[in-house]
Amino acid sequence: MKSPTSRAVNGVYLPVLVLLLLAATLSSQAQYIEIRVSTKFILNGSSQPPTGGYTTSNQWRQAIDTANAGNARFGRGFRYQYPSFDGSVNGYSQYYNLDQSEAVPFEYSIRTNAAQTGWRADALNVYIVNRNLGPAGNEWCAGWASNPEDALANYAPYNTMNGRIAVFCAGVQGAPGSELSIVAHEFGHHMGLIHTWADDRVADTVVDADPTVCEQPGVPDWCSCKFNNTLARAAQLGWSAAVLRVATNNIMSYHCDNDLDFDLTEGQLDRWADIARRYLASEMTGVTYFVDRNNAQGGNDGYSTNPYRLVQTGVTAATATSGNIVMIRPGNYDEQFTISKPVTLRATRSGWVTIGKP
Ligand SMILES: [Zn+2]
Repeated sequence: MKSPTSRAVNGVYLPVLVLLLLAATLSSQAQYIEIRVSTKFILNGSSQPPTGGYTTSNQWRQAIDTANAGNARFGRGFRYQYPSFDGSVNGYSQYYNLDQSEAVPFEYSIRTNAAQTGWRADALNVYIVNRNLGPAGNEWCAGWASNPEDALANYAPYNTMNGRIAVFCAGVQGAPGSELSIVAHEFGHHMGLIHTWADDRVADTVVDADPTVCEQPGVPDWCSCKFNNTLARAAQLGWSAAVLRVATNNIMSYHCDNDLDFDLTEGQLDRWADIARRYLASEMTGVTYFVDRNNAQGGNDGYSTNPYRLVQTGVTAATATSGNIVMIRPGNYDEQFTISKPVTLRATRSGWVTIGKP
């Protein structure tokens, strides 16, 4: 959504020092990249939908509010829209109870039968089933989302598309204190984020202790088990208190009590923005272009891995279409530039940006 006040930046010429507060924008109201969400129910053989909290709009609104409170803390300008309930899917009752081995065939079938399944190219597609993951005949109640960077590519013969789906068991609970942030976790996977105890392809995260060893019958307190294992790893590897905190609060971990204060590192947020621009742009109202005056590479594509060096280059790229964000790395940008269309400039949480003579 574009705010009328964003027109205030039209034609502004900035010859003097402009300070950008952390995550501030040039307009009085931030312009967000809104991610459209579309949910569908898989019906059973009697054409009945699954039942549970995540079949209700109230639960979804609370979960989206929780996820967006995180997005507000992260300061990257992303927001999830409340889901559009786009109907029910008949003829897929074999997936009403979806076991682990059916995940990839399910996604492939859903996406190649869009007319029947309500698949939308312009939204984050969520399918609600009765049971999800686990062995056939004894399925679990969990959530998963495929990775847009590679998922289906690893699963011949379904390797003609990259992953782009989220699936929830209707009654999924999540870890204690994380009942609502499970949506933020699964949507984090959808944005290309990987569990923090695996190789998450992010440079600034530490490798957490494997939480799955705690999620076993006979372990009396899974939450304490996971936390204590992470504490031991922190002591062993000499993590700082700040590193320990972001590890235990990370939304891509399985740690408990994440509804209120979950976190992501700057590297995870960079990866999110890049994956969104590269694979998921059709689902949202804009993309992110990065600027870093200190980029020693060519600076020719505006991804976080090779950001533009000039704000002007970022602005030119971002204003070619509407709704985009220019994310500027810390530093002083001694340049004059013209903004001729509405655009949002943001700085990361990691430092100050100044524009003009220092
Ligand atoms: Zn996960």
